[in-house]
Amino acid sequence: MLRFFNTLSRSIEEFHPIEDNKVRMYMCGPTVWNFAHIGNFRTFVFGDILRRYLKYKKYDVTHVFNLTDIDDRIINEAKARSITIDEFTAPYIQYFWEDFDALGNERPDVTPRATHHIAEMIDIISKLIENGKAYESDGSIYYRIAAFPEYGKLSKINFSGNIHGGSERIDTDKYDKEDARDFALWKLVGEDEEPGWDAPFGRGRPGWHIECSAMSMRYLGETFDLHAGGMDLQFPHHENEIAQSEGATGKQFSKYWIHSEFLKIDDVTMSKSKGNFFTFRDLRDQGYSPRAIRYLLLSVPYRKQLNFTFEGLQGAEATVERLRNFRALVKDARVDDGSNADIVKLVEKAVSDFEKGMDDDLNTAEALAAVHNLVREINTALAADQLRADDKTRVLDAVEKFDSVLGIFGKEEIAMLDAEIESLIEERQEARRNRNFARSDEIRDLLAEKGIILEDTKDGVRWKRR
Ligand code: AMP
Ligand code: ZN
Repeated sequence: MLRFFNTLSRSIEEFHPIEDNKVRMYMCGPTVWNFAHIGNFRTFVFGDILRRYLKYKKYDVTHVFNLTDIDDRIINEAKARSITIDEFTAPYIQYFWEDFDALGNERPDVTPRATHHIAEMIDIISKLIENGKAYESDGSIYYRIAAFPEYGKLSKINFSGNIHGGSERIDTDKYDKEDARDFALWKLVGEDEEPGWDAPFGRGRPGWHIECSAMSMRYLGETFDLHAGGMDLQFPHHENEIAQSEGATGKQFSKYWIHSEFLKIDDVTMSKSKGNFFTFRDLRDQGYSPRAIRYLLLSVPYRKQLNFTFEGLQGAEATVERLRNFRALVKDARVDDGSNADIVKLVEKAVSDFEKGMDDDLNTAEALAAVHNLVREINTALAADQLRADDKTRVLDAVEKFDSVLGIFGKEEIAMLDAEIESLIEERQEARRNRNFARSDEIRDLLAEKGIILEDTKDGVRWKRR
């Protein structure tokens, strides 16, 4: 049974979807004003693991992941370059997906952009104005928090005594608000000013929080199963999403809320504003492989902070290499027919430990420990010639299962070293001299599988890669 920590109840809960085995999940995506850094990607890789594990558990998952393609930074940067916000964000959207894919993430089912869902936002804001939960001030529209008594139920921030006037923790806009906590749903934009959209309540542009209420409900319905994002989004972003959505529909918005912890560097949160960040491209250009970066990001359970170090990344590089070599070794192992009861048990235990770890609040560290244990045991069994043909299949099936969730073994085949190829060719010649044609054919097939083509010439055997 899958259990995880629901921020809404602050406790570990069993996961039960609202409808049969359908899971409708929303995750807040990036603001596409720059390259995403690997802290952002820790959160997105976690979202990918969550999605993949739900699928592993045979749930029918609909995963919505938005792109925030309008905010103050985007507007300012576009203005500074005299281009439209679409022109400004287009390359960053492309880079984002390139990096996202390279890191081995599965594409979410729906990836809506905020600027393509303004009508849905206007609709929610109109409902909130109608039912008294939003008001106009100086042409902008604000959410009236006093009209939503449950405000604070996600972040558990106690607002009592803090309602009127300027509380320091709450960002106050320059406009006149009834209450310092009230936040902008719609910001006034002048007639000729871009970007701006016409609405029944005046020309403007959306606030950040309304975007996610609109895009999630558009694709998942008014109530859905799961909402995820980084820790910092609990407040105010997710608290405000709840206020907007539940304030408009009168129904529960998301049943479960999952928040992942931060990636730090030298114990300081990695962020653009602090300047202490690495993008995926920075690390790749230094020669680190995407699999190793992914491994590092997912190796620490999502509710624990992860401190980034190059030492850790080098360790991850060695680990993914070892895992890939292991799979290649098992694939290429020449084994007798049959099956070994001890190995059957080992594989079963590894899969069950893997699932136990993942079921336990998506504990990737435990799941990885199960993978590494199996690798160690099977290496020992291989060295002692104890692996049989059926076991080989079982081990490879287990690796595939693990990787359907983790994505750390990767698809690509390990290239064979020249020395390995030459020694196999030598063995083949020897087999032919001994008229052992079965063995010589077997070697030719094995090499062919690896993309090595043999050519028998009068000067001996030549080989080349396909
Ligand atoms: P943004 O592009 O700023 O909207 O952020 C995208 C996502 O990255 C959000 O879910 C943030 O919570 C998350 N995030 C930002 N910084 C970090 C970090 N250092 N570690 C983990 N997640 C982060
Ligand atoms: Zn969001």
